[in-house]
Amino acid sequence: MHSVRTADGHTDRTLWAALAPPAPPTSSLEQSVDVDVAIVGAGFMGLSTALHLAEAGVSTAVLEAERIGFGASGRNTGFVVPSLRASLGIEALREKLGVYGDRLWALVGSSAGIVFDLAARHRLDCAAERTGWVSVAHTEAAMADLRTLAGAWADAGRSVELLDAAGTKERLGIRGYHGALLDPAGGQINPLAFVRGLARVALDKGARVFTQSPARRIERTGERWTVHTDRGRVVAPRLLLATNAMGGSLAPRLATSIVPVVAYQVATQPLGATDLDAILKGRPCVADTRRHTFAVRLSEDNRLVTGGLVFGNASAIRRARSIFIPRLAQRFPSLPPLTSEFTWRGMIATTPDFLPRLYTLGPDFFAAIGCNGRGVAMTTTLGRELASFLSGARAEADLPLPVQPPEPRTAHSLVRFGPAMWLLWSNLCDRLETGMA
Ligand SMILES: Cc1cc2nc3c(=O)[nH]c(=O)nc-3n(C[C@H](O)[C@H](O)[C@H](O)COP(=O)(O)OP(=O)(O)OC[C@H]3O[C@@H](n4cnc5c(N)ncnc54)[C@H](O)[C@@H]3O)c2cc1C
Repeated sequence: MHSVRTADGHTDRTLWAALAPPAPPTSSLEQSVDVDVAIVGAGFMGLSTALHLAEAGVSTAVLEAERIGFGASGRNTGFVVPSLRASLGIEALREKLGVYGDRLWALVGSSAGIVFDLAARHRLDCAAERTGWVSVAHTEAAMADLRTLAGAWADAGRSVELLDAAGTKERLGIRGYHGALLDPAGGQINPLAFVRGLARVALDKGARVFTQSPARRIERTGERWTVHTDRGRVVAPRLLLATNAMGGSLAPRLATSIVPVVAYQVATQPLGATDLDAILKGRPCVADTRRHTFAVRLSEDNRLVTGGLVFGNASAIRRARSIFIPRLAQRFPSLPPLTSEFTWRGMIATTPDFLPRLYTLGPDFFAAIGCNGRGVAMTTTLGRELASFLSGARAEADLPLPVQPPEPRTAHSLVRFGPAMWLLWSNLCDRLETGMA
């Protein structure tokens, strides 16, 4: 079971673990293994890379400290979103990334399709629903941003729909918004089922996946990297860290390149047919444009799943319920009293500009990190791109992001206060702009 007993005595048990098919059988690494590409981390990023490498006939081994999907990949909300945040349109990407901006923009636009195609092609039993993704505007200014974004996507040949305030209320049954952008390319999955499915296909295609095998140390001998675990090692000329927010001491320069943020999730009781008729018509997943985003979806067993950030650690699981359940009731006034039947948390790797990073940590040693809260489609897609690079089929300069050394962050030790300060500021601004929590 995907659950952990927390400091405040509660079990954080994910809904996804209660619904997902079991993970494929794997064991810990007890020997020395030689492969072309070693990967650390069995989330979407590591396993999508492994799957695509194996498909290309490149030998690979994935080391996972815990179990498949133990990190954010097994704990997220399962939104498959073919977009970065509304402020990161094509112009912003060009400004921040130069020539890479256009490539990333095109890749982001296709990223949800890549997830749904993988799920269909490999018959992944992951409750995939390509029912659209909706961004709802919490202010008129945010609605103007969504109009600009819709125009940019239309220019790129993608059709998205704009809803006015009345249309948003009618379609979603949700209160308090100025309009919305509906992107039919997006949708939702059971993320734990998807990551387990990626592992199953990667294994079927010849990749090796070792669980309960934390990478403890990395060393370079001659032209090869050796990744040591407690009872084994993987030796490879090329190495990828896909450890996201959980890499810790393995690569300190990587750990200080991101700000880890703990996010909480709650799932309600299953809703009845009459209640379902009144909300989220067509079952899209929905996120608003607030700084501290309100996001909500229906699970495959018709529960509402939502979440966000909570101050502090002590009793945070309990407080998550007491914040997020009333917020759902406020947004969906037609619903009967809601209770929380599952509460859990996960770690998001955030970057200051909300963009992912590809880092070089040594010769043929790379890390892919920082997909923020938009990693389901992005990591799966970047995994495919990285596989074509690590297999030698594509040049580094042709990747969708520059490959750079990690940026040094001054005073990173103060970073632990960052998320709380950000949350305070965001909640304040959101409340001032809308009069609602
Ligand atoms: C609560 C929450 C909700 C989110 N909602 C969404 C959403 O709806 N849509 C969306 O697009 N994105 C969402 N995200 C973000 C998304 O989940 C992540 O961007 C994505 O899962 C990152 O995948 P990954 O493979 O890079 O990392 P992870 O899934 O975190 O995998 C990293 C793995 O590395 C392993 N590891 C770490 N160190 C070692 C080591 N030394 N040795 C071996 N293994 C190691 C970890 O155990 C872990 O399994 C959400 C995130 C959270 C936490």
